[in-house]
Amino acid sequence: MHKFGHHDDYEHDKVQGKWIMPEVKLNNKVKIPQIGFGVYKIDDHEASKVIGWAFEAGYRSIDTASVYGNEKGVGQAIVDSGLKREEVFVTSKLWNDDQGYDEALRAFDSSMDKLGLDYLDLYLIHWPNPDQQKYVDSWKALEKLYSDGRVRAIGVSNFLPQNLDVLANECDVKPVLNQIEYHPALQQVEIAHYCFENDIAIEAWSPLARGEVFNSPVLAEIAEWHDKTPAQVILRWHLQQGRIIIPKSSNKQRIAENIDILDFELNLDAMENITALEAGQRIGPDPAAYQR
Ligand code: NAD
Repeated sequence: MHKFGHHDDYEHDKVQGKWIMPEVKLNNKVKIPQIGFGVYKIDDHEASKVIGWAFEAGYRSIDTASVYGNEKGVGQAIVDSGLKREEVFVTSKLWNDDQGYDEALRAFDSSMDKLGLDYLDLYLIHWPNPDQQKYVDSWKALEKLYSDGRVRAIGVSNFLPQNLDVLANECDVKPVLNQIEYHPALQQVEIAHYCFENDIAIEAWSPLARGEVFNSPVLAEIAEWHDKTPAQVILRWHLQQGRIIIPKSSNKQRIAENIDILDFELNLDAMENITALEAGQRIGPDPAAYQR
């Protein structure tokens, strides 16, 4: 056994000569590609080009949100790709200003108009905004959209265990996933544990900590050993822990690099060394306090 281990545990399509994208089966049986493409800060006019590169590289899942202001561009990118609707998994999110039952239904319609789609794969409440006290009503609107067949799965983002407990007590449908900030410098163990116990998948946003941890000598050593980059090593660490990831880049080569992580495996030593980079270091706001 070499220092950081190596064997392939993902499927390789021998005919097409490609790795097969692993999928996570959500608690309602819908499957989501484990690697998706985040499009925060990619504006409408560059979306088709950049998302086109992502499709070319093999991504089939796009993570957008109404607040990113690029849902039109995402819809256009799907049309331009020539891919069939069912070949692409599309996520969008309900923004804070649109929370509430009627507001959420209207915001969903507006997102769908911009995307130009007749169904969505996954719709999330973007932040709990606990002081607004509207996330239960918003969730009930998402349940309605789900039961009407307008969205294949519904979930949340930035929810803390106490927010999830409220949904469990007051609502019928369990969120399929919780999209939270998660990277080596911020591993939200308490939330992850709650979600694991309750069959709610974890989707990591800012999975690369926006590059903040790339300088770590530990990552450099592991990356060099595998002939991979620190970004690839971090993303692989997420995959091996079962998380869904949505790395973002506007650079063609990095977009391809971030999905090229199925052909190596980190051993226990490497996994533990990366896990030891926990530093309680947030990129975004704390959901317990975040209001607007
Ligand atoms: P990320 O961790 O994916 O980092 C993206 C940045 O890292 C890029 O802009 C680039 O500067 C750098 N980078 C990417 N690939 C690289 C590579 N291979 N080598 C070197 N540098 C590289 O951060 P993110 O964009 O914040 O998060 C990803 C996605 O998560 C977003 O696009 C969005 O879809 C989602 N997100 C959701 C929330 C939420 O509240 N739900 C918040 C933030 C982000």
